[in-house]
Amino acid sequence: MPMPIANLRQYLRNGLDLLLPPQCLSCGTIVVGDAGLCSDCWDNIAFLGPPQCPRCGFPFEFEMGEDVLCGACLRAPPAFDRCRAAFRYHEESRKLILDFKHGDRTYLAPALARLLYQAGRDLVNSANVIVPVPLHRWRLARRRFNQSGLLAIELGKLSGRPVLSDAVLRHRATQSQGGLNRRARNRNVRGAFRIRASAREKLRGKRVLLIDDVFTTGATVNAATRCLLRGGAAAVDILTLARVVRPAHV
Ligand SMILES: [Zn+2]
Ligand SMILES: [Zn+2]
Repeated sequence: MPMPIANLRQYLRNGLDLLLPPQCLSCGTIVVGDAGLCSDCWDNIAFLGPPQCPRCGFPFEFEMGEDVLCGACLRAPPAFDRCRAAFRYHEESRKLILDFKHGDRTYLAPALARLLYQAGRDLVNSANVIVPVPLHRWRLARRRFNQSGLLAIELGKLSGRPVLSDAVLRHRATQSQGGLNRRARNRNVRGAFRIRASAREKLRGKRVLLIDDVFTTGATVNAATRCLLRGGAAAVDILTLARVVRPAHV
């Protein structure tokens, strides 16, 4: 059977990667080693890390003590246990994410997964299983791949943790979350997920690490978390590439 064009292109690209020097994930400049980004782009990306809210990962300006939660988590505790993100969602990182999501740049997945692993090593190491947030099949058909699924697979390779790529299904074609406020986002994703019957046993009693590309208000990952907990998972942590950081959060 002839190889589909998209696969062929990917196949050739994988082959070429062995011959060509690695390029910056963001601007395409040649980089030395496997840093992923050139030094200019590295400076422009706002990486997230401690000090931060131990629950949702919201960055604090200074150390607050181990158990101090941010205002948002105090007001409305999230369904998940912990959430971490590799970098802040802003102008520069937005381009990187959009290239990955819509630009067919699937070959970015291994390097982006390394950034995820750095940001959430504790979460990855304590997970029994890694699960991506799914796209609805219509959107999947349009985009041809689920970017969170690719990240989950690469993270599985890095960490040796098992990946259940299609454990969670999105059975309602939710409208895009862009431009919706928090309440509308919650309504939009409520009841949107369910667990595939064949995955139920594999998730029971497990600590799940849920992978998504961007954490905005947390509506999507909270809805997917509630679905996993209802399905018998013991606990859910979240790891995303980027996170919107709003001052109002505190
Ligand atoms: Zn660059
Ligand atoms: Zn928090």
